[in-house]
Amino acid sequence: MKNTEQFIGKRVLVVGLAKSGMAAAGLLHRLGAEVIVNDARPLEGNEEAATLQALGIEVIGGGHPSDLLERGFDIIVKNPGIPYSNSLITQALERGLRIWTEVELAGLISEASIIAITGSNGKTTTTTLLYHMLNIGKKKPLIAGNIGTVACTVAEKAKNDEVMVLEASSFQLAGTENFKPHIAIFTNLYDAHLDYHGSTTEYLDAKLQVARNQTAEDFLIYNNDQEIVRSSVETMHAQKIPFSTEGKVVEGISADEEWIYWLGEPFISTKEIKLPGRHNLENILAATAAAILTGCKKTAIENVLSSFTGVRHRMQFVREFNGRTIYNDSKATNTLATKSAISSFKQPVILIAGGLERGHSFEELRPHMNNIRTVVAIGETAERFTEFAKSCGVEQSLLATTMEDAVKVAYESSSEDDVILLSPSCASWDQYPSFEIRGDQFIHAVMKL
Ligand code: ADP
Repeated sequence: MKNTEQFIGKRVLVVGLAKSGMAAAGLLHRLGAEVIVNDARPLEGNEEAATLQALGIEVIGGGHPSDLLERGFDIIVKNPGIPYSNSLITQALERGLRIWTEVELAGLISEASIIAITGSNGKTTTTTLLYHMLNIGKKKPLIAGNIGTVACTVAEKAKNDEVMVLEASSFQLAGTENFKPHIAIFTNLYDAHLDYHGSTTEYLDAKLQVARNQTAEDFLIYNNDQEIVRSSVETMHAQKIPFSTEGKVVEGISADEEWIYWLGEPFISTKEIKLPGRHNLENILAATAAAILTGCKKTAIENVLSSFTGVRHRMQFVREFNGRTIYNDSKATNTLATKSAISSFKQPVILIAGGLERGHSFEELRPHMNNIRTVVAIGETAERFTEFAKSCGVEQSLLATTMEDAVKVAYESSSEDDVILLSPSCASWDQYPSFEIRGDQFIHAVMKL
């Protein structure tokens, strides 16, 4: 660990427990800070609170008392899920207090260099690909962030010959101040999480925080095919590594039908790639560029490209059954993700979609719906999704109540050579505790066919 002395005797308020709050509170306590924790849940039955109390940390539960800030704090570390509109956070901002997420702590103390991956979609896939490349390339990677262990916990043990591969959401990045990854990856940007960030500008601003402190010794790998990303990184100081799937480009990394090009030279044949979908090619380019910059050998990268078939719940191949190929893309909780999924297939698709009603539009899918033979809609948005499908000219739109039902209906309406795809375009919380459980139920139903 480095830079730890600065926390001795500092008064820190950790707001919100869960994984990140627990990790931050424990770490700061070990570093000699005076930590107070505030969690919305009542203390009774709150196991996390009890664990911290046993360490001698004061925990205030059952809400966010308005006079809490009177106690005087140097820093607030908030759970990334707590919005800036939360009254305690608003007050803290008015007082000019520093408000961090644990990612800032990780960046401060980590001895390992950091590769941070952000963007609206593709973070987990890119992070996983890169982790495997670095692992096979013997670069001692440590995986951190939503996908693995909380970043500051990983940072606490990280050594200077290791590399932290960190999946960083906009929520986490919004709470950083000096965070400076050696390599940053910005996969793409579109309107998501506007309920949290307020506007696209604020959302983009949070994402750009990944590169803002970088200097000319650092690298920024970004999506050159998206105008909003391309123009937004112009003022950043890192060495820029653009990626593009629209054919050979001399700068950065690019791909056409035949090759992945590094600095305009053929590097690896695209025939090596197992992972389906154009969007995944973007993730592959970003991960490959980061692996090259970290000194990975080509054979290690090739090895991953020819064996990696996808992360669970993200365009995950489930099985082939009576000529139908079945994919689980439960992680597609927004239209952009579903758009990428359906445009990956040339053969007719039976699409299972729908979920939590957030009032979001499905219009982005319209140009890609001509390949959909049948829609089987589930969840709160089921009726709205079937109406949308009808308006796109989809032959058949059906409703289902449970996942088992949806899979049965999808199978019955399919023919040989069709794809059956769960890619809901909506969050799962109307019917399931998480997209993982939704995907698992899908897999279970598919296996029962
Ligand atoms: P994240 O961690 O950013 O949510 P994932 O890798 O988990 O991203 O993928 C989430 C969903 O987004 C997947 O279901 C996939 O279909 C879609 N997706 C993945 N990569 C991209 C990309 N580069 N562009 C657009 N959509 C993508």
